Amino acid sequence: MSAALMPYEEALAKYEPVLGVETHIELGTASKMFCGCPTTFGAPPNTQVCPVCLGLPGSLPVANKAAIEGIIKIGLALNCTIVEWCRFARKNYFYPDMPKNFQISQYDEPLCVDGHLDVEVDGETYRIGIERVHMEEDTGKSLHVGGATGRIHGADYSLVDYNRAGIPLVEIVTKPITGTGDKAPLVARAYATELRELVRALGVSDVRMEEGSMRCDINVSLAPRGSAEWGTRTETKNVNSLRSVERAVRHEIERQAAVLESGGTVVQETRHFHEDTGTTTSGRSKEEAQDYRYFPEPDLVPIAPSREWVEELRASLPELPAARRRRVQAEWGLTDLELRDVVNAGALDLIEDTVKAGCAPAPARKWWMNELSRRAAEQGVELSDLPITPRQVARIQALIDEGSLNDKLARQVFEGVLAGEGDPDQVVAARGLKIVSDEGELSAIVDQVIADNAEVAEKVRSGKVAAAGALVGAVMKATRGQADAARARELILEKLGAS
Ligand SMILES: [Zn+2]
Repeated sequence: MSAALMPYEEALAKYEPVLGVETHIELGTASKMFCGCPTTFGAPPNTQVCPVCLGLPGSLPVANKAAIEGIIKIGLALNCTIVEWCRFARKNYFYPDMPKNFQISQYDEPLCVDGHLDVEVDGETYRIGIERVHMEEDTGKSLHVGGATGRIHGADYSLVDYNRAGIPLVEIVTKPITGTGDKAPLVARAYATELRELVRALGVSDVRMEEGSMRCDINVSLAPRGSAEWGTRTETKNVNSLRSVERAVRHEIERQAAVLESGGTVVQETRHFHEDTGTTTSGRSKEEAQDYRYFPEPDLVPIAPSREWVEELRASLPELPAARRRRVQAEWGLTDLELRDVVNAGALDLIEDTVKAGCAPAPARKWWMNELSRRAAEQGVELSDLPITPRQVARIQALIDEGSLNDKLARQVFEGVLAGEGDPDQVVAARGLKIVSDEGELSAIVDQVIADNAEVAEKVRSGKVAAAGALVGAVMKATRGQADAARARELILEKLGAS
């Protein structure tokens, strides 16, 4: 049964949403958090395990230094304080895909605290407070076989793969996000987008939401407008795409508003998001929530990063996305709106790489944002998935700059490269694309066109210069667009004594 919903605008007129986002990010370290097992995605089940990550008796964990470096970098990039001393904690619970029956996490002593990340929605900046960033390990994965849905209900049996168990996981928890009004779904999406860009720029994770290396839990509650008190929140788990983040927030606002409007109360619970319908359904309620019996992990030493190490890591941070956007905007001379279009189209990297390959910024942006965006839209793929490289785009523009192609011919070269006919130069050679710049050849074609269009030629001769356009068109047609139109026009007027 699907839940009753209140139309979005009506819900926002009556209630103010409060959001919170908890994001899990798998770090891309070569080995796991507390053992030396490899972390390759997609390896055959249970081939990347050892006594430590299987939790066998007598095994002892050792923290992965590269993972600690990774989380400190994330903390610094999120403007957090890196604490001088903290500990790991055991979170005790039973779950089939967690071999130890506890997860090593951090509880009341997170490594990074009190930061922020600025995000922009419709030209307005929202500062998202970061409560904490802590280190933990991932669980394994269960596979339910035989059912229609892939869920445990209706399955014939279940399989467990422990390859993922023990992969370093960073959890980033926001402070409550207030004051977003009807922009709440967009702000949540913008936050997830910016966080993904930031972590990707740091090079510590591939942050692929579709592969689960970044996943968001979304908290939503509603307060009646004008009320100082927040409502009861729900937590929608494991939202696995940016679009789903936006949809999950929107759906929870519409659903909770309907519950409150009918006189009901919102139940504090975890909920599941369904990609196919864009809706959430009830998971486990807080009454069933477990007492995790956290206690300091006795098998690991505390983490006490020296200030020198933290400053070294701070100095090693690459240019972060916000700073990069500001730089690029200035270098390319873009308006705020143009920059936003480039970012939204996913074209920033592509244009920058094209510029690095020697192309001027203006044509680089023009090709990616017009010709190639149109073709990507036609094929229903991301711009970055088109089978053309920034280097190839730069080469096509170089051929234009040196006068051997015009824009029209260049479009044919794009078509050829995208069709898999090879590099721009190969396409040019194979398709015989080249501006006809040989004066004698062009002159002969012009003579032929004048002979074939005697009436029009006569008009031009008698002073109606505007009629020359038709003759230029005929020359371009005869050369399949490969003539220099301006030169053709000069020749026509010259030959007809009208220049
Ligand atoms: Zn292991």
